[in-house]
Amino acid sequence: MFTFGSIPCRIAINMTPNQLKEKYIKFFLERGHKEILSSSLVPENDPSTLFISAGMHPLVPFLLGEAHPAGKRLVSVQKCLRTEDIDRVGNNYYHTFFEMLGNWSLGDYFKKEMILWSYEFLTKELEIDPNKLNVTVFAGDENSPKDEESAEIWQKVGIPNERIFNLGKEDNWWGPVGKTGPCGPDTEMYIDTGKERCGKDCKPGCHCGKYIEFWNDVFMQYNKKEDGSLEPLEHTNVDTGMGVDRTSAILEGHMDDYKTENFLPIIHKIESLTGNKYGEDEEITRCIRIIADHIRSAVFVLSEGVIPSNKDRGYILRRLIRRVVRFGKKLSIDKDFTSDIAKEVIQIYEKDYPEISQNKEIILSELQKEEHKFSSTLDRGAKEFEKIATKEAQGKIVTAEEAFNLYQSFGFPIEITEELASEIGFSVDTDGFEKLLKTHQEKSREGLENKFVGGLSDHSEISTKYHTATHLLQSSLRKVLGEHVSQKGSNITGERLRFDFSHPEKVTDEQLKEVEKLVNSWINSNFPIEQEVMTLEAAKKLGSLAFFGEKYGDQVKVYTIKNPKTNEVVSKEVCGGPHVKNTSEIGEIKIIKEEGVGEGVRRIKAIVS
Ligand code: ATP
Ligand code: MG
Repeated sequence: MFTFGSIPCRIAINMTPNQLKEKYIKFFLERGHKEILSSSLVPENDPSTLFISAGMHPLVPFLLGEAHPAGKRLVSVQKCLRTEDIDRVGNNYYHTFFEMLGNWSLGDYFKKEMILWSYEFLTKELEIDPNKLNVTVFAGDENSPKDEESAEIWQKVGIPNERIFNLGKEDNWWGPVGKTGPCGPDTEMYIDTGKERCGKDCKPGCHCGKYIEFWNDVFMQYNKKEDGSLEPLEHTNVDTGMGVDRTSAILEGHMDDYKTENFLPIIHKIESLTGNKYGEDEEITRCIRIIADHIRSAVFVLSEGVIPSNKDRGYILRRLIRRVVRFGKKLSIDKDFTSDIAKEVIQIYEKDYPEISQNKEIILSELQKEEHKFSSTLDRGAKEFEKIATKEAQGKIVTAEEAFNLYQSFGFPIEITEELASEIGFSVDTDGFEKLLKTHQEKSREGLENKFVGGLSDHSEISTKYHTATHLLQSSLRKVLGEHVSQKGSNITGERLRFDFSHPEKVTDEQLKEVEKLVNSWINSNFPIEQEVMTLEAAKKLGSLAFFGEKYGDQVKVYTIKNPKTNEVVSKEVCGGPHVKNTSEIGEIKIIKEEGVGEGVRRIKAIVS
């Protein structure tokens, strides 16, 4: 039992997050939907964002009209990461990583079916008390009509008018993705937690925690035209999203995501490592939540082959881990702790997410490495920051130079400096910092370009390792799978290699292990890499592999890796480079993913560490 305002009520259902996921999928399967698997957090073929942030995100092409191979009714559990919510993490219901349940109609059912199903699922399947449900619908504005239809359907199913709220575009409108295209109103479902209202304007949409949004039904019914006007769409879509953590917390009645099974073991671990008690003190509880949330996110991001760096995804990962280390210090943890907590996360999620169980060792070792790197400078950096904070009559500003020094010498991501500054009422000259950073990056890039004149590719140390690792991978695949394997494409970033090759069927786990083992044995044998320049003709005569997707000049470079003792050639390839001088420089390779990308073409992603 728990109390809801003054009325005692039964906890709706004691359902674990996994049971909720099963129930949701089953409910929509029974209504003609096909289940699709979660896409990876790292978007495929979408350079516009770093991480997937909603279930609909990987489905955009289909919402825009492309036919989905699984049909018109889809359901999924999607991994999501929202860095824009990072400052809200610390309360009971905001996370950076979370799982989103969702179902879609691609030109099939619309508002009536969806709202009826939403109500049925919530009140019958989840047994949520209908009196605690509040909904919002689009209020309408000068450009777009009010969503009367949704409001009427909610009334018909039994939500009284005083619990149907009209909100504007910021809350209840979706799209279009670009300037033009499909868009429309949405209707959001909130639970009334029973808390006091924070003020007289407090209503669903307010972030004080009285009303928690946990499901959203989006109705794409208009096409926005070049001139800004809306025309009705011929094929309307439905897109919904329900947060697993929030809904589980509601079902268990305590309204605290961190008390659900997906978090509890993590919280217990943090308690035992720090000697603190969750829930006793507001600030300590906030720190515990931030650590729990960020380590969960870091585990998922690492499981996809991203490693900490100063760029893009790697930088976000670095920020998450460094923030954890900082909050660990706040709780006076004086030993390595991130990997111990990560082990709990792994245990909770490895069954559902094989990428986590497959990459366990890397996840733990990368966390530890990053933790070490930052803990060794954090204390000194904090002292440096104190000096800045105590300087007199400077207008309470951390200057661009000071912020850059904290970044450069002590590894403080700018966001951490901003956070520290705001805790003592200082601001940071972030614009100036960005300028300094840019100048610094340009300088180091010039330095690199001078070192490797010619060649268009990225010549950083890490990508050089990946180039050589790719050659070894191709040779190993040809040894293990057969000589039919030939390169169909390759893409290298500072975070991973991706190699596409011809092969008619899935590469089994055993084969992948063998391929990986062979590459690592070559790496460990310290083979030198030799480079010669010759005509393409001559290179081919020597049996060098050459990739037909590439255009070669008159003279080509041939890179040979061979065993100097036996003269056995491990790899001979025409390539523009760059390459390491000795295989031992590569480190260790780990295959993190194998998948099909077309008829007879497979793709492998691997990382080196
Ligand atoms: P909010 O207003 O609370 O930020 P939202 O409008 O951004 O939510 P949607 O984009 O509609 O949320 O996402 C659908 C569902 O995903 C939400 O109803 C909620 O259950 C869940 N969700 C969204 N953001 C988060 C988050 N940061 N942490 C946990 N769950 C979230
Ligand atoms: Mg939001």
